[in-house]
Amino acid sequence: MEMPCSTERGPLVPQAPTPPNSKGFVPVVQNPVVTTVTQVLAPPTDGPSMMFCTFCQRTITSRTSFEIGLMTWAVCGGLFLLGCFPCMCIPCCLDSCKDVMHYCPHCNRLLQTYKRM
Ligand SMILES: [Zn+2]
Repeated sequence: MEMPCSTERGPLVPQAPTPPNSKGFVPVVQNPVVTTVTQVLAPPTDGPSMMFCTFCQRTITSRTSFEIGLMTWAVCGGLFLLGCFPCMCIPCCLDSCKDVMHYCPHCNRLLQTYKRM
């Protein structure tokens, strides 16, 4: 009887060391920094409101002025159709029927227009 002198083991597969990663360094993907300037400001109303003046580059409280707009003419036309001819000029005197122009108090430039129609 022969004693098994060798165990039937397969050839030892040496643990292959992890090959050196050719990409040893993790490339840092630098996303372009997008700075989105979001001005969270209230939409213009018919009164002085906070807004950003692109000319002065600052936040200001607008100065308002009222000008005759589409709403004014619509009310005039409505009064005309109703036959209230003497009342037709009333919308031109009421600020609540006019468009509101928002100006910058510093540079006096028109920033926004609040249209009622
Ligand atoms: Zn300004």
